Amino acid sequence: MSQSRRSLGIRDRQVLYRNANSRCENPKCRKKIEFDEMQVGHKTAWSRGGGTTIKNSACLCYRCNKLQGTDSWTVFMKKQGIEDPKVKVKAALERLTVPQLKLLAAKHNVRVAGRVEEGFLSSRQLAPTKRQYINTLASVVTLEDLRS
Ligand SMILES: [Zn+2]
Repeated sequence: MSQSRRSLGIRDRQVLYRNANSRCENPKCRKKIEFDEMQVGHKTAWSRGGGTTIKNSACLCYRCNKLQGTDSWTVFMKKQGIEDPKVKVKAALERLTVPQLKLLAAKHNVRVAGRVEEGFLSSRQLAPTKRQYINTLASVVTLEDLRS
């Protein structure tokens, strides 16, 4: 079998359907659907490197699958006005200064690694950039943490 197959096998489809409790996984829909009605949506499009895995798939009804089109799951949610909580966390982190981000990382025991610069005689690790702090912290902290 080809490694880059585009659709899930029957067993994976059954697992996907069961995990979704026989409902369309679009939070704005949640329609109960029959197994034969299920459309397999991709969280990240296959054409953009999204794998053919259960984790990258969504159980959708016909209408929602059409609605998603070629959008990624994140874009699909955004278009329906559903915000990814991570987007809000990132925006909140953006407003902090680097020393504040550094403090936050220490508080959560997160190590943010800076880029390693190769020198002529030795290499040294550069201090992490603001972007690196934000990207690392966004998956660790919640909006609640940032309020305190
Ligand atoms: Zn639906």
